[in-house]
Amino acid sequence: TKSVVPIESLDSLSLKSFPLCMRQLHEQLRMAHHLKHGGRLQYGLFLKGIGVTLEDSLRFWRDEFTKIMELDKFEKQYAYNVRYNYGKEGSKRNYSPFTCLKIINTPVGPGDCHGCPYRHCDTSNLKNKLLGYGYDPQAVHEVVDLAKKGHYQIACSKYFDTVHNEDVGLGINHPNQYFEESQKIIK
Ligand code: SF4
Repeated sequence: TKSVVPIESLDSLSLKSFPLCMRQLHEQLRMAHHLKHGGRLQYGLFLKGIGVTLEDSLRFWRDEFTKIMELDKFEKQYAYNVRYNYGKEGSKRNYSPFTCLKIINTPVGPGDCHGCPYRHCDTSNLKNKLLGYGYDPQAVHEVVDLAKKGHYQIACSKYFDTVHNEDVGLGINHPNQYFEESQKIIK
């Protein structure tokens, strides 16, 4: 059985145990107090998958969004979607967190922060982001080079090794798998 992840731990978890696609959504949400629909869906389902409860999810999104909007607007326009992700609204399906393949192939427009950064970020942005996190320039070069050649999931695996300072060489096909493998190493 999966353990419950409290939202208070998301900032620290995002540094090591989130793949870059989710780390950047988390950081964007903290910075802008908002995410567009594609980001809310991709990140919201990931959070559900790692063990954030519906109640905590509602609190998490509400705390950020109400920094820039009235509570009433959040409740009317956004809370539904959070409950929807947990199968509590609409067709009440139990929606699964997205796979890498789905995220890599998702359409991404201007201003969107969802998708796979190895596929959707331009090379210099990706490089600057990783250097800005303080990773070894040689490792960053390798990640960016793999991404540039279209080896998105291998780039993600190299990022995993860089972040964990270990040569794991993981085959990555799901952001939630990334999270679980990271937690195994850290715990
Ligand atoms: Fe996310 Fe998968 Fe891309 Fe890694 S390869 S950043 S887990 S979508």
